[in-house]
Amino acid sequence: MATHSDFERTIEFGDKALKHLRVHEGPAYPKNYELWYTYVAGFNRQLNQALNDLIRKDGKITPDMMDQIYEDFLSPGRMGDRVEEVNSKFVQEFEVLMNALDQASDSTSDFGASLNNANKELLSATGSDQIKQVVQKLVSATKEMESKTDALEDRLAASKQQIDVLHETLETVRTESMTDALTGIANRKRFDETLSLEIASANETKEPLTLVIGDIDHFKKFNDTFGHQTGDQVLRLVAFSIRETVKGRDLASRYGGEEFAVVLPHTNMEAAMIVSDQMRKAVMAKELVKKSSGESLGTITMSFGVSLYRTGEPAEDLIARADAALYTAKDAGRNCVMNESDIDDSVLKNSPVECSDVENVA
Ligand code: GH3
Ligand code: MG
Ligand code: MG
Repeated sequence: MATHSDFERTIEFGDKALKHLRVHEGPAYPKNYELWYTYVAGFNRQLNQALNDLIRKDGKITPDMMDQIYEDFLSPGRMGDRVEEVNSKFVQEFEVLMNALDQASDSTSDFGASLNNANKELLSATGSDQIKQVVQKLVSATKEMESKTDALEDRLAASKQQIDVLHETLETVRTESMTDALTGIANRKRFDETLSLEIASANETKEPLTLVIGDIDHFKKFNDTFGHQTGDQVLRLVAFSIRETVKGRDLASRYGGEEFAVVLPHTNMEAAMIVSDQMRKAVMAKELVKKSSGESLGTITMSFGVSLYRTGEPAEDLIARADAALYTAKDAGRNCVMNESDIDDSVLKNSPVECSDVENVA
């Protein structure tokens, strides 16, 4: 549900978007408005990078450039269109290859027939002139075959190159669709996919699998105090800190607004608690400084909940326990890590280890 702060924040983005439209003299069509709104809100890192590059280079963004950037980064059908485009190119390339192979197979059978004929003619040949004729035919048939084989080889090499390019394009589209635009780490879709794959693997191998969900403490207050754009920068910094802490098969993802989820395959509860605490400390250790003014914004903290996979259970149950542990951590005073065994008895604990309700605003 939209809140009052959503109202203020979005009106502010809207005003700024209109200012950009005026500066660059772009028609205020909904498309162009969306483009500049996305720019000022900073939702899409690649879009901002592309616009900033153009601004640096040309000073002004013309309506044509706006159309192009919109097409490249915002057009709703973009992802689907690109997949379709790659698909149809694959089909085209495949047809070309099949034709080339058909022709090659015709040439091979022609060549085979020539050899057969030559064989017959040789058997019935009576003089050296006849033999010479047969040999000449053979030489020219072989030459023809050779040049056809060369052409086929070239065609195959060109196709391979084209297919490699298509493959790379597909990979890029796939990676983009699995990445969170704001922070550049894995998005919820990738988290869901990875978790279900790791669950299947844990069920098979019986290796431990743990899940960590982290949530920024008092983030609403931070946004209200310093503005949503600064809040977005903090989300990037938190994503970076979390990703830096994990390695190998671990997956750090943005689970939702200011929540992050980390999948830790082959990791038991004890190790997951250590990793989570490293994340907590990494986030807390970063002093936030506003780039434009050098103003210190203090530090922020995060709370974490950890759960351990139980063979056979669905992903939702594992997530629910990590979530419940996270809320236990919030209840216990924030800036701490709790696991599923803390869920029930947390209320009985007087002073949970390392929990302190540190204000994240200096
Ligand atoms: P708690 O310690 O209990 O988690 O308090 P909180 O304020 O962090 O939690 P609450 O759920 O009340 O508010 C979450 C806030 O996170 C709301 C919104 O201001 C902020 N938020 C969510 N998504 C984004 C985002 O994409 N960008 C920014 N800047 N802020 C976001
Ligand atoms: Mg939250
Ligand atoms: Mg929060």
